[in-house]
Amino acid sequence: MKNLIILSLLLTCGTVACAQDATVKEIAAINPPGTALAPLRYLASDELKGRGIDRPEINTAAQYIADQFKSFGVKTVPGANNYFQEFQLVTASPGKTGKATIGQLSFTLGKDFVQMTPVDAIIKFPLEYVGRVTEAGLNTIDVKGKIIMIDLGVADDDLSFRKDYGQLPALRALLTKKGAVALAARFMGKTLSWSGLSAHFNEPHLIQPDETTFLNTFIINNTPELQAILSKGYKTDAEFVVTGTMERSVNLKNVIGYIKGTDSQLKDQYVLLTSHYDHLGVGKAKMEDGKLDSIYNGARDNASGTTAVIDAARYFSKYPPARSMLFITYTAEEKGLIGSSYYASHPIVPLKQIIYNLNIDNASYDDTRLISLVGLGRTTADKHIKKACAAYGMTVNGDPTGGQLFFASDNYPLAKKGVPAPTFSFGMKTFGPEIFKRYHQLSDEVGNMDLNYMMKFIGAYILAAKYIADDPQPATWSTGDQLEKAGQELYGNK
Ligand SMILES: [Zn+2]
Repeated sequence: MKNLIILSLLLTCGTVACAQDATVKEIAAINPPGTALAPLRYLASDELKGRGIDRPEINTAAQYIADQFKSFGVKTVPGANNYFQEFQLVTASPGKTGKATIGQLSFTLGKDFVQMTPVDAIIKFPLEYVGRVTEAGLNTIDVKGKIIMIDLGVADDDLSFRKDYGQLPALRALLTKKGAVALAARFMGKTLSWSGLSAHFNEPHLIQPDETTFLNTFIINNTPELQAILSKGYKTDAEFVVTGTMERSVNLKNVIGYIKGTDSQLKDQYVLLTSHYDHLGVGKAKMEDGKLDSIYNGARDNASGTTAVIDAARYFSKYPPARSMLFITYTAEEKGLIGSSYYASHPIVPLKQIIYNLNIDNASYDDTRLISLVGLGRTTADKHIKKACAAYGMTVNGDPTGGQLFFASDNYPLAKKGVPAPTFSFGMKTFGPEIFKRYHQLSDEVGNMDLNYMMKFIGAYILAAKYIADDPQPATWSTGDQLEKAGQELYGNK
């Protein structure tokens, strides 16, 4: 009888398929829906008030994640404070009053111009307008002792605005080095409206942890009067005055833990699973989906991702793979990738021991047959991720924005340092109306999510992580990828 059973097993499935089925069954047994979805329901509940970093409930969320890790037997990382990586950052509030004059024109702080990093200032120097520039272009210009004025993008082209805006840290660093006094950047966006941008800078915001250089930087609305006077090489006297800025320090924490791998050779290498657990907190009360609401529950963004990381920790505690697994849920992603940037510059487990990072971040979905991998084609782990998704009846597509989302989530700060790091997301055919219906909306709640799809998402994520962690060959950047060189530098040309 016994032999017959073995024989029939051999006949009905090849060994690889059997192993896969067995893992899918293990995942389902460890994470039945009631268990697997409990973190989603709790983190996205009204009780946690949208997990804004300026509210005490963010610490309740962090403690909950730590308690979950502890209950599974996830180990604390030496160098962390229990399950926490704690740090302090400064939030700066914009000036209470401020004005600027450029030639004959005058501008009001908060209305016509904003200050990127709030600090009291009185700056009266010659101003020179140089148009839209790159780092290389700036290098050829004498900027010493001047306020340099540039364009952020070309008129009415949001994509060019975003691109130039992303370059600002590099330009600020270069201008500082070359002795410029300040930077005045002209806003050229369109749908990304001036009112939206100024509203953002009129709120207190966190100073980026990697903001190592500081140059007074102002963004100015492209008013018709300003447009009329500017032509390349335009020079005039200018003055910027800002008073009444305020600084306050905030305590933040990433939650971190690990599971030791089983392979004596590979256990010193880590596969990192990440998601951010913060969201937007509480906003102004509004009617949405027929209900008066003010809490940004952030069920999709990113209680869902945090849930999948917790469920992965639950699974891997019971079934550790060959490599070690590191779990980090980040804080303050919504404020500008703060938690992940902090980890990237203050790693507890060194980055060169982290061979791969599979991040999760979710906006929403418009196709539940899909998983969208932001960074598809960029690392050699695509095969594992596709295979894992296929086991749950799903296929994988790439970033529907054509690459922009790669820079917009917590995968990026580590990727920039060389760690192969895509973001695993809900299926998005297009980054369009169906996504924006929930993305950063009050109605991003568990009640309107497809929980069967969520279960498949969790299963596929865990299975993909297992394949990556068990592969004797570490996943790397694809040949010719922009970040391949950063990877070779980090790992020493492995
Ligand atoms: Zn997010």
